Amino acid sequence: MNTYGRQPVTFERGAGAWLWDTHNNKYLDAFSGVAVCGLGHAHPAVTAAICQQAGRLVHTSNHFGIALQEELGAQLTRAAGMDKVFFGNSGAEANEAAIKIARLHGQRRGIATPTIIVAENSFHGRTLATLTATGNRKIQAGFEPLVQGFVRVPYNDLEAMRTVARNSANLAQGIVAVLVEPVQGEGGVHIPGDDYLAGVRALCDEFDWLMMLDEIQTGMGRTGRWFAYQHTNVIPDVITVAKALGNGVPIGACLARGTAAELLQPGSHGSTFGGNPLACAAALAVITTIEQEKLVARAAALGERLLAGLNHALRDCKLVTAIRSKGLMIGVELDRPCAALIHTARARGLLINVTAERVIRLLPPLNISDAEADLIIEGVAAVVRDFAHSDA
Ligand SMILES: *Cc1c(COP(=O)(O)O)cnc(C)c1O
Repeated sequence: MNTYGRQPVTFERGAGAWLWDTHNNKYLDAFSGVAVCGLGHAHPAVTAAICQQAGRLVHTSNHFGIALQEELGAQLTRAAGMDKVFFGNSGAEANEAAIKIARLHGQRRGIATPTIIVAENSFHGRTLATLTATGNRKIQAGFEPLVQGFVRVPYNDLEAMRTVARNSANLAQGIVAVLVEPVQGEGGVHIPGDDYLAGVRALCDEFDWLMMLDEIQTGMGRTGRWFAYQHTNVIPDVITVAKALGNGVPIGACLARGTAAELLQPGSHGSTFGGNPLACAAALAVITTIEQEKLVARAAALGERLLAGLNHALRDCKLVTAIRSKGLMIGVELDRPCAALIHTARARGLLINVTAERVIRLLPPLNISDAEADLIIEGVAAVVRDFAHSDA
C-alpha cells in the first residue's frame, strides 16, 4: 500500500556506516534506519549470530521454553535495571504491553476508567492505542474513534502534570500512569530539563502512578547511557525498548520492575513471534557487542564530538536556531521547513533525516570512526550553508 513517501533510492548492501545503492553509489548513513542499526550495517557479530541461529532453530512459539529468550531477558533486565521483560516484535507492541500493564495497575487500585498521562509532541507508534498516546494530530487524523483513557499535557511541564493530578482527584477517571519519552525523537529531538524525570518520578510516587518511559529510540546506548533515564538518579517502573535492540531484526521489549513486573499473568498477554530464538540471538549479539566494543561510552564521546563540530561549523549560520543533543541523538533546528535537505544531503552521499518539519535529525551508528563523524559534520554544514544561500 502507498504508506510511505519514499526517497528515490534503493540500497543493495551495507558495511558499518556505509550503504551502496543499486548503481553502486556509496552513502554515509547518519540515520541508521531510524536509529535501528546502532552497530551499523552487516556487523560481523550480528551476522554470525543470525546465520548460526537460522541454521539451528528459528521459531518454536511461547508454548515452550526458549533458552535464548531467558538469556536475553537476564542480560536486558540487568542493563536496564528492571526485574522482568515481555518480548514483542516492535516498538508499538512494546508500548501496547506497557499500556495494558498501566490498566491492570489501575484495576488493582479499583479504578474503573484508568487514564494515562501522555505528552504533546510525543511519538509512541501507529497501532490504535499508541497513535492515541502519540501527541501529533496528523498521526491520529482519520482513525477516530481513538482509544479512551489518555490525557495530554505539554512536554517538560511538571506543573501541568500536577494540575491533572489535582483535577482527577474528583473525577471518575483515575490517573494510573505517565508515559513519556526521556528525549522526544520524532517530535524534534527535545530534551527536557534536568529535573523533569525526577519530577515525574515524585508525582508517580505521590499518587501511585506507574512511571513508564518510552526508550524505544533513546535506548541501547544511543544517548551515551544504556538507557536515557540512567542520566538521572531515578528509576522508572516500566520502560519500552525496540529499534536498536535487534540491529534490524524485529524485536521489542517491555521491561518492568517491582509490582509492575507482576501484573501480566498467563492468559493476559502474549505474542506468537515475540522473543523467538532468531530475534533473541540477534539481540544477544547486539548487547555483547555494545559491551565488548564499549559503545555506550563511545556514543557519549562521539556525541560530544558531533555537537562541538556542528556548533563550530554552523556558528555563523543565521538560519540555525538551535542545536540539541543527547549522545548520538542530535537535532539541528532551522528557522524554516527544511525537508528538502534530505535530498541535497543524499546527492552528496550523506543520509540524514528531517523531523518536525524544521529539525535535521542525526542518528548515526554508535561505532563510527572520528573521521566518519567529521564527514557527517562537514556534510551537514555544507548542505545547511547551501540551503541558506538558495533560500535567501
Ligand atoms: C519508533 C518509535 C516507536 C514505534 O516503534 P515501531 O517499531 O515503529 O512500532 C515508538 N516510540 C518511539 C519513541 C519511537 O521512536
